[in-house]
Amino acid sequence: MSDDKALVLFSGGQDSTTCLAWALSRFAHVETLGFDYGQRHRIELDVRPRVLAQLRKIDDWGSKLGDDHMLDLAVLGQVSQTALTQNVAIAMQENGLPNTFVPGRNILFMTFAATLAYRRGIKHLITGVCETDYSGYPDCRDDTMKAMQVALNLGMESRFVIHTPLMWIDKANTWKLAEALAGRALVELIREETHSCYNGDRTHHHEWGYGCGTCPACALRAQGWQRYIAT
Ligand code: ZN
Repeated sequence: MSDDKALVLFSGGQDSTTCLAWALSRFAHVETLGFDYGQRHRIELDVRPRVLAQLRKIDDWGSKLGDDHMLDLAVLGQVSQTALTQNVAIAMQENGLPNTFVPGRNILFMTFAATLAYRRGIKHLITGVCETDYSGYPDCRDDTMKAMQVALNLGMESRFVIHTPLMWIDKANTWKLAEALAGRALVELIREETHSCYNGDRTHHHEWGYGCGTCPACALRAQGWQRYIAT
């Protein structure tokens, strides 16, 4: 298991792209992993290769960026009924979680990431989960990820390290982190090329990027951008 290799869970959104940049500034060899789980729009999957192509042009990242893996997790769409996998309106549920919550999604994602990393000899797993400025998803919490690290290492007799560079920073500081990693060029890349909108809208352009402007993901992104440019 190589200490200088990392696998980044990469969806094509702002957070995972920032995490990928973070990994490229720290590790000699970085691979990416995406999941197709029957998302109700394909935009995320479409933007991934464009973001990767742009990242290759920054510094020496082209020589560090390795294989991009895409796993079919259609089974997740079969077992869960949520606003991310079905065409229903986004709303808050009685349990205080938005109906965009896909139960167990990040737990499954980390498990498959570790399975892949095991085969590829990769020690470091990086995910953009965050419990600072988020939708309240319990599988994004620090305790969940720490428990996952323990469970995966016990269950696979391995020594994976799960990194969560965004866990304790808000969305404004996520933009600042991108700027610190590779300057305004990376901020522009993330602003124009990444996708966060739950509704898959890439027709409306805002100063913070493309999106419907009204869904919870757009709201978080817009608020973060406003706070970022105000400082
Ligand atoms: Zn939106």
